[in-house]
Amino acid sequence: MNTKELNFEIQNLGLKNPPLLSEDEHLKYVNDWRGQYIGRAAAVLRPSNTLEVSNIMKFAFDNNIPIVPQGGNTSLCGAATPDNTGDSIIVSLEKMNNVRQFNKNAQTITVESGMILSQIHDVVEKEGLFFPLSLGAKGSCMIGGNLSTNAGGVNVLKYGNTRELCLGLEIVLPDGRIMNLLSELKKDNTGYDLKNLFIGAEGTLGIITAATMRLFRLPKMITTLFVEANKISNAVKLLNVFNTHFPDRIESFELMPKVFWEVAKNNIENIKLPFENLPDMGVLIDISSFSKSEITSNENGQLPIIKSIENILEECFDLELISNATICNNEAQRKSLWSIREAAAESEKKELENSNLIKCLKHDISLPVESIDDFHKEAQKMISEFLPDLKTIYFGHLGDGNLHYNVFGNGSLPDGFQGKSINLTTELYKIVHKYNGSFSAEHGIGQLKKNNLKNHKNKTAYSLMTIIKKQLDPKGIMNPGKVLFY
Ligand SMILES: Cc1cc2nc3c(=O)[nH]c(=O)nc-3n(C[C@H](O)[C@H](O)[C@H](O)COP(=O)(O)OP(=O)(O)OC[C@H]3O[C@@H](n4cnc5c(N)ncnc54)[C@H](O)[C@@H]3O)c2cc1C
Repeated sequence: MNTKELNFEIQNLGLKNPPLLSEDEHLKYVNDWRGQYIGRAAAVLRPSNTLEVSNIMKFAFDNNIPIVPQGGNTSLCGAATPDNTGDSIIVSLEKMNNVRQFNKNAQTITVESGMILSQIHDVVEKEGLFFPLSLGAKGSCMIGGNLSTNAGGVNVLKYGNTRELCLGLEIVLPDGRIMNLLSELKKDNTGYDLKNLFIGAEGTLGIITAATMRLFRLPKMITTLFVEANKISNAVKLLNVFNTHFPDRIESFELMPKVFWEVAKNNIENIKLPFENLPDMGVLIDISSFSKSEITSNENGQLPIIKSIENILEECFDLELISNATICNNEAQRKSLWSIREAAAESEKKELENSNLIKCLKHDISLPVESIDDFHKEAQKMISEFLPDLKTIYFGHLGDGNLHYNVFGNGSLPDGFQGKSINLTTELYKIVHKYNGSFSAEHGIGQLKKNNLKNHKNKTAYSLMTIIKKQLDPKGIMNPGKVLFY
């Protein structure tokens, strides 16, 4: 089908929102957030309901047209970017952003997949409920993208990844069939768990059009503190101390070492630092309170929760686990610290743009928490011996054992790493593997880590994945070039 015929057929699909057919209109959909992948598309379609998605898929299936599902296009591994042939149709879910059902008593919400994550927060918080998935891209990523990447974020320690928050899905299959697995049930043992197959599939098996998500009680108060722990091993011990005192109440436990603060200071305008000297190893902690007594002032005008935290911090000073701590005493202070943490990816992007370096090797790894210190020492030794003047910016969700371990090159051509960037990543993943970690913690595989998946995944599991892919998508039209070789 030539371009003219394709455009004619697309117009005939009768979609409510006009198709975007010009290259100018495609710009925001064909490039990835980091500017590492640049693609082209035949058209961008923005269906307004599930039936329209189904009609698009039937048309694509009959005509062998590759489809790239897209949410907020914030993937950090090129998962939502089409290839550069210009043959693909991008199906953006951005116009499907309605709440279908909000059941406050059951603490569930059913939303269309194009709903922006922060909009879900706003809707449920007005009713005193809480949707815990939260990440730096929350103002633009969409729940369908979060589900398709099984996104993690800053609250995994207590609530789990997106998968753990999902009760049901509605999916359009590659041939256009609609599979309704929407459900509020917490128990439903009816054979294979197909819902979970589509979570984390990165748009390679079908299009998620709606989802039922779990909600939680909104904590009465969240206390945020920033602690200077001097080294990783101390931060890990600190996690154990807080876990003992506040079981199931640590909402976040984020590692922010000196290298993180240096990049933040260089790149965030009007940044407000809660300390004079940059800490060697900072940790940002959120503790939730659900009982009224804990947050009601005592006779000295102090909140019992703050007193408890201060007592624990004193214990940690005595054990020489920490050297300094700040407990936020107002919402503005709390938001200011969190905004710095949430701007991590943006600050790193600017750091790269403002330097003469060619690229930064992004590694999104996870490790057993108790191995993180040994891993870091071994990885730093390898990196320092690999090439001179490489810099590692690392930070992350320490409570989940998830580190963003990003290596900036020294600028030596052709790739900023003397042509050895792939070798460096390979060496790093060997160390991750040695400590029983994963090379892909939360961002997914996309295009960036396709080779790594093939090399590191258990061979039988990889082969099963390709069998499933071929069965569900026999024509290979769903998000081609991502996740698997098949
Ligand atoms: C500043 C910043 C901070 C981030 N922080 C985190 C973090 O803390 N944790 C984390 O896990 N990730 C993080 N990310 C990565 C990214 O935001 C997440 O992967 C997010 O879940 C992607 O959502 P999206 O709507 O942008 O999806 P997109 O980027 O549009 O798509 C991602 C993948 O999902 C597929 N897809 C999208 N929608 C659908 C659908 N409806 N049906 C089927 N497939 C679909 C796409 O084809 C693609 O494969 C961050 C990104 C940025 C830019």
